[in-house]
Amino acid sequence: MKYFFIWTLTFCSLSAFAQMSGFTPANQVKQEKFEADFKTQQSSERFKKHLTTMCSVPHTAGTPENEKVRDYIVETMRKAGLQVELFPHDVYMPKGPGEISVELVEPIRQPLNNREYILPEDKYSGHPLITPGWNAYSGSGDVTAEVVYANYGRKEDFEQLKAMGVSVQGKIVLARYGGNFRGYKAKHAQAAGAAGVIIYTDPADNGYTKGITFPEGNQYSDFTIQRGSLLTVDFTGDPLTPFEPALPLDGPKKVKRTDIKDVDFHKIPVTPLPWGSAVEILKRMTGKGVPAGWQGGLPLAYRLEGGTALKVRLNVKQEKGFVRTYQIVGTLTGSEFPDEWIISGCHYDAWSFGATDPNSGTAMLLTLSESLGEMAKKGQRPKRTIKICHWDIEEYGVIGSTEWAEQLRDELSTKAVAYMNYDAAVSGKMFGASSSPSLKKLLIEATQSVQYPDSNKTVYEHWLGQKDPRAGSTVGINSAAPVKAENDEPVIGNLGGGSDHIAFYMHLGIPSLGGGTGGPTLYHSQYDDLFYYDKFVDPTYKMGPMVEQVVGTMSLRLANADVLPFDVVRYATDLNTHLKTVEKSIKVYKPDFSIEKLQNAVAELRRSAELYETTMKTQLAANQLDNAKATALNKELRNLEKSFLDPKGMAYGAWYRSLYASSDPYSGYASWMLPAYMYEASLKSTANLPDLETRHQKAIKTLNDKIVGMTQQLAQNAKTGVLGGGKN
Ligand SMILES: [Zn+2]
Repeated sequence: MKYFFIWTLTFCSLSAFAQMSGFTPANQVKQEKFEADFKTQQSSERFKKHLTTMCSVPHTAGTPENEKVRDYIVETMRKAGLQVELFPHDVYMPKGPGEISVELVEPIRQPLNNREYILPEDKYSGHPLITPGWNAYSGSGDVTAEVVYANYGRKEDFEQLKAMGVSVQGKIVLARYGGNFRGYKAKHAQAAGAAGVIIYTDPADNGYTKGITFPEGNQYSDFTIQRGSLLTVDFTGDPLTPFEPALPLDGPKKVKRTDIKDVDFHKIPVTPLPWGSAVEILKRMTGKGVPAGWQGGLPLAYRLEGGTALKVRLNVKQEKGFVRTYQIVGTLTGSEFPDEWIISGCHYDAWSFGATDPNSGTAMLLTLSESLGEMAKKGQRPKRTIKICHWDIEEYGVIGSTEWAEQLRDELSTKAVAYMNYDAAVSGKMFGASSSPSLKKLLIEATQSVQYPDSNKTVYEHWLGQKDPRAGSTVGINSAAPVKAENDEPVIGNLGGGSDHIAFYMHLGIPSLGGGTGGPTLYHSQYDDLFYYDKFVDPTYKMGPMVEQVVGTMSLRLANADVLPFDVVRYATDLNTHLKTVEKSIKVYKPDFSIEKLQNAVAELRRSAELYETTMKTQLAANQLDNAKATALNKELRNLEKSFLDPKGMAYGAWYRSLYASSDPYSGYASWMLPAYMYEASLKSTANLPDLETRHQKAIKTLNDKIVGMTQQLAQNAKTGVLGGGKN
């Protein structure tokens, strides 16, 4: 049965008032019809069927079960009418959890549980392929040592330990999840001389202090374990092939791979525990009490050291090697502009069943390919090419998408219009998104044209009314420093690390966004399964079709617009916000620092962008652009974001080439806007400030020049009436 919203009757009036950037009046009417037809395609049943088929078994990268998920995706997209290609990559990665054990050795011998419980109400929880908790890219080793508690294991926590005279040399560090990317806990611990690391989930951060625990409630319980990767090289992707694709070892084209011994892998053993096990260590510690902010949520006074009478054994044997992985790309070739690509993606490998992370996004993209395929069969084909990608091996370090982006670098640089990431995109009832400036207006307009299920609100209105308007899909979204809401718009986050947009946005300069719905999650635990989805995420399965409508609307507007609906003025607005953050961070240690020159450049950029916007809108409204001129304009629009690409890259990693955005190299997940400056500020350095000013000025000027050029192009081309006649 098709999925219909109950407000179908109000749809027409809603659509008539919806704003739609980038279309001539005549083509907007056609687009409205196209979208109305598209919005009859969704089906909760199909969404549920895809999710159930993919998530009934655990399917980590490199396993036969994940290959079955791959085959299902390929088959579904082929049936839908998309051309499907597989891109194999041989990635150097763990071959599974290997051997893991943690035990108390003194004062008593007691093995510590590192498995989630089998629960009678959750039929998935007893699956034989469920692994113990583990961290990918751990070192191997069998160590028995005393214990030091290191709070979140951040740089500042290790500095504080040192200042307090607590040595972690030769000790096992016990650190809680949160505060940074888990790989940095291992990195900082190893640098400080630790013998091993145990990372546990503390109830202060996740668990009973937030609400009722699983399975009765949706919070981490004392036996819920967060898995996750530890990879911390200074680029993203396969650790042996920075800048280059990890093409198959037996393929015709050989790629230079770094010698394994030259890669900065963690050498010490690292493993995660639930707090039900960590408490067995914590309650036996006898050292000094912890400083302010270090006390966790367990009912005991936390201590810095375990003392000599407490010994823990940590044994991890994790084998690594080359594993064949597959990126899946489904293509619906555009009817008029086949070489302009609108790209959407989500990974398909999971830490266990992957019901929310990632496969709620996968299922949504599968239903989208069916909806678009169905329409294409009836002759309604998008003008630009739509590519729907399903990435392998994201969970071990955002690897598959990065290898594909590196493989197709040159093609993507000329053809890609936008990359939109939908990792775990249907994980709850709250909409949320992060975006590069130019796509924000498109996102807002699309959410204004889609109804939120069982309400009289649009997705946009629901989003605006949410207590925390940035709740929503939590993957790749940084909540630390979102751009401030403009004109009552919901808060749109900045893209950070942690998902598959990284290579497109931060390495290739392609406008990107990430979004979807979110809510409470048993992140990276085996309980992210269909029982959890049914009970806590969305028993109605209506959110899948809703997210598909938002995603489809954005894709179809990008695909059919006469002029790509990029908000160029927003670059100036957002740059100003980020420059102020930079100024504040640097003035802390250099009070006379000024961003005035750059602000002046941004002011000029704003004037140019506003002039472009008015000129373009006037000409579109009067239908004064012909196809050739629009094509030339769209080519320039695709190039705007690349103004921020800097050949030197970032000082913390040359692979990160965007002066505009990067993941925070200290935390991995958070976003850094104007990252070269943020890095300088993090070092409290002034040495590079003049060079940074020059490079940023150049980027802003390049962007400005391109926009001025577009306006000039428009001025030359004011003539009448040619865009209305395109096929649709
Ligand atoms: Zn994910």
